[in-house]
Amino acid sequence: MPDFHRVIAIDGPAASGKSSVARELARRLGFVYVNSGAIYRAITWYMLRRGIGPDDGGRIARTVESAQISCRLKNNESRVWIDDVDPTNHLRDDLVNKAVSRVSTVPEVRKIVTEKMRNYARAHDVVIEGRDIGSVVFPHTPGKFYIDASPEVRFRRRVAEGQRDEIAARDRADSSRRASPLTVAPDAQVIDTSHLTIEEVIDKIVERLKLKGLPL
Ligand code: C5P
Repeated sequence: MPDFHRVIAIDGPAASGKSSVARELARRLGFVYVNSGAIYRAITWYMLRRGIGPDDGGRIARTVESAQISCRLKNNESRVWIDDVDPTNHLRDDLVNKAVSRVSTVPEVRKIVTEKMRNYARAHDVVIEGRDIGSVVFPHTPGKFYIDASPEVRFRRRVAEGQRDEIAARDRADSSRRASPLTVAPDAQVIDTSHLTIEEVIDKIVERLKLKGLPL
């Protein structure tokens, strides 16, 4: 990966603990934390606000290509603006939760988000979380993890966050789509977080990165 700084890819299903782990791991290592799901969510919010339905692939493709999507950093974390609007407060709206998996199947959307992820890694050491980061976006990175937890634990975590998010439906859609489905990359290290604290997961990741000889 001559083009890129150090990349740690954290993939996994909804509510597996990816975000907490990726954010804290980045803080501990002094890397930038990038949440790719937030960019898919921001694009989804933008489409819904324009009255574009999640299954209207043609309009989504045309609209995303003409939108001004600006990915920046705030406190060493990725933030996205679309047409100079900061959609952060809307990313977990019920309507976005419901539509995001469908909007994410549009190839033009995936292409733009993938390029944004690579731009971050051209400029910074990064921990990036998502669904296809190790399998498609950075297939050559040696730091590749798949974070999982039992369906019951994941469901309880979302409820504890006060969110109405049909994670089982999202996981089904994300795993079965044709473009960059959620999958365990053959060289990813799988960690089940059901009975682990965030700190314990991070210790395991750091230990495995050291074993792989990744300079930290
Ligand atoms: O990570 P989060 O649950 O916020 O992601 C929201 C949605 O964005 C996922 O359900 C998936 O449809 C999409 N996504 C994706 N590829 C990624 C990250 C997220 O398709 N790398």
